[in-house]
Amino acid sequence: MDQSKEQRILNSVSYNAVKGDPESVLDCIDNYCSQKEWAMNVGDEKGVILDKVVEEADPTIALEFGTYVGYSAIRIARLLKPNARLLTIEFNPEFASIAREIIEIAGLSEKITIIEGHSQDIIPQLREKYQVDKVDFVFLDHWKERYCPDTILLEECGYLKKGSILLADNIVYPGAPDFVKYIRSHKSFDCTNYPSHLEYMKVEDAMEKAVYMG
Ligand code: SAM
Ligand code: MG
Repeated sequence: MDQSKEQRILNSVSYNAVKGDPESVLDCIDNYCSQKEWAMNVGDEKGVILDKVVEEADPTIALEFGTYVGYSAIRIARLLKPNARLLTIEFNPEFASIAREIIEIAGLSEKITIIEGHSQDIIPQLREKYQVDKVDFVFLDHWKERYCPDTILLEECGYLKKGSILLADNIVYPGAPDFVKYIRSHKSFDCTNYPSHLEYMKVEDAMEKAVYMG
């Protein structure tokens, strides 16, 4: 059977990256996806914005919607302090399994839990099944029509606290207009827009940070 693009990314990481070195895994994925086959990782340019916001949040509990092959999970987890953890949700079992292998190569398996399922089903289970009380940082990078309902679900389930930081990718391309309208008009969110470019392309994109003010 033909290999998928995601399997080819894994092959490239297995062959070229230094085991236990997250930076080399990220470089390997960025090189492959900028030179060989485009893929929907947040990428190196927006990745720098992600890094800065993770450092600002300094999370103990970080959450991600949309693992794909684990690129952004590795970016986030490599910056986590001891005892902090990242839960990342992915509904495609092939992507989840490839991400598990790539995260293992990066040496970050102990910090990252991949939860397989739909975000809308998993969010209400986070407290009982994954001992999450409040989240410090959330990276939204799954299908764009879920950004707004999943943000509302996070609020309704009581996971947001004063200072929780949401960061949403692809605000311009492909865009998440209902989400942007919702958080910018919500009195409890303080929003900042970070103009950038779509991963590995010259196409305009942006990320939106929303700090929950309680
Ligand atoms: N965050 C990743 C990175 O930068 O390396 C890229 C994530 S990719 C843009 C989006 C992923 O979200 C896909 O792998 C897709 O299968 C997954 N996804 C989309 N909607 C989802 C949902 N409602 N629940 C869980 N996973 C979802
Ligand atoms: Mg994205």
